[in-house]
Amino acid sequence: GATVVIAGAGQGGFQVATSLRERGHAGPVILIGDEPGLPYQRPPLSKSFLLHPETQIELRPHSFYERRHIALRHTRVASIDRSTRRVHLTDGNTLAYDHLVLATGARNRIPPIEGITLDGIVQLRTQDDAARLRTRLPTASHLAIIGAGFIGMEVAAAAAKTGITTTVIEALHRPMARAVSMATSTHVADLHRAQGTTLCLGRTVIRLDGDHTGAVTGVRLHDGSRVPADLVVVGVGVAPAVELATDAGIDVGDGIRVDAFLSTSDPHISAIGDCAEFPNSHTGSRTRLESIQNAVDQARCLAARLTGTPTAYTAVPWFWTEQFSTKLQIAGLGQGHDESTVLGDPATGSFSVLLFKDGLLAGVESVNAPADHIAARRLLACGKPLRREETAADGFSLPQWAG
Ligand code: FAD
Repeated sequence: GATVVIAGAGQGGFQVATSLRERGHAGPVILIGDEPGLPYQRPPLSKSFLLHPETQIELRPHSFYERRHIALRHTRVASIDRSTRRVHLTDGNTLAYDHLVLATGARNRIPPIEGITLDGIVQLRTQDDAARLRTRLPTASHLAIIGAGFIGMEVAAAAAKTGITTTVIEALHRPMARAVSMATSTHVADLHRAQGTTLCLGRTVIRLDGDHTGAVTGVRLHDGSRVPADLVVVGVGVAPAVELATDAGIDVGDGIRVDAFLSTSDPHISAIGDCAEFPNSHTGSRTRLESIQNAVDQARCLAARLTGTPTAYTAVPWFWTEQFSTKLQIAGLGQGHDESTVLGDPATGSFSVLLFKDGLLAGVESVNAPADHIAARRLLACGKPLRREETAADGFSLPQWAG
C-alpha cells in the first residue's frame, strides 16, 4: 500500500493516522512529531491541567500506535523534496512518501515589545509551556495576562481559583471580541470581575519592566499606567506553521492553501488543521480555523479521500471554552453578524445568542445551554434556514425548531 507521511503529531496528525487505519489503509503510516512524548490534547493546558497535575492529556497510550502499526517518530521534518517525494528529517534521515500530510499547527505570536524575554514571561502552547506555568503559579503574587482571547481568559479563570492577584490586559474593549458577540463577552467579563480579576480593556502594552536579576516586575501600558506582575502570560494569538510549504514552493496565504478536498497546490501533499487555509462552505470565503473540531474533521475528511472516498470538507465549525463553571459552546461562524437575538435570560447564567447574517442564522453561542448548542449544530448542518423573525415568537425553542 501507499506510504503516508504525516508532519506534525498534534490533534490533526494523530487523527489522520488513526482514521487511515480505521478505514483499512494497509500501507505504512509514519507520524512525525517534534514534541516529546505521545500526542496529547491541548485544551486542558489552559484549564484543568493548570490546577490539577494528575490531569491526563495523552490522546492514546503507546500500545495504541503499536497495535495499529502507526510509526511515531520524534523528530522534525526539515524540508520537502517534491521532485523525488521525500522529506528530510532533522535527525539526518530521509523518508519517501506517496502522500504527505502537513499538520504542523500554529505557534504563538511573540509581540515585539521591550522586555519580552525577561524571566517570568510565559507562553502557552505546549505541554512543556503549561507545566512551566503550573510550577510558577503557586509562588507568584501578581499575574498579568496579555490578551483576553480564549486562552488568556481560561488562564485567568484557573488563576482565580489559586487566589493570585490577576489582571488581564487587552487592546480591544471587551474579552474574546474577535470571536464572540457583545452579549456573550459582557456576560463572561462579569463572571471574571465577580471572581476578583481586573480586566484592563482598551489598553496596549508598550514595555515589560524587569529587575537587576532579569525577572519581570511589571507591565507598562500606553496610557502611562503600570500593572505590577511577577508572572506574565502572553496570549496574543498564533501564526500558522507554514514554512515547510513556503520553502517547497507550495501556495501559502494565511495558512497553507488547500482546495475543498484539502489538497495543496501539489496533489501529493495535503494540509489540515490550524496550518491550513481552506475554502469555507459556510461563509463562502477562505478561512483558517484554530479548533479541535476543525483539526479532527479535516483529518477524517482527508483520510476518507486517501482511502478512496473523496468528499469536499463541509463540516459545521464548533468550539468550546470553559471558564469557572461556565461552558460556552459556539456553533457556526457568527463573526460579522448584523443582527442577534438572545434566548433565555443571561442573569440565570444559561442562555444562547443567535447570530444572523443577511437575516439568516449563521452562528449560535450557548452559555451553559448544551441542548441549544446541539440543536444549532444540527440546524446549521442540514441547512434548514432560520430567519430572525421566526425566533421572535413567544416560547421559541431552538431544539424544538431543529426537530
Ligand atoms: P497542533 O495540535 O498544534 O499540532 C501540530 C504539531 O506539529 C505540534 O506538536 C508541532 O510541534 C508539530 N510540528 C510543527 N512543525 C513540525 C515539523 N516540521 N516537523 C514535525 N512536527 C512539527 N480548541 C478547541 O476547540 N477548544 C479548546 O478549548 C481549545 N483550547 C486550547 C487551549 C490551548 C492552551 C491551546 C494552545 C489550544 C487550544 N485549542 C482549543 C486549539 C486546538 O488545540 C488546536 O486547534 C488543535 O490542536 C489544532 O490541531 P493541529 O493538529 O492543527 O495542530
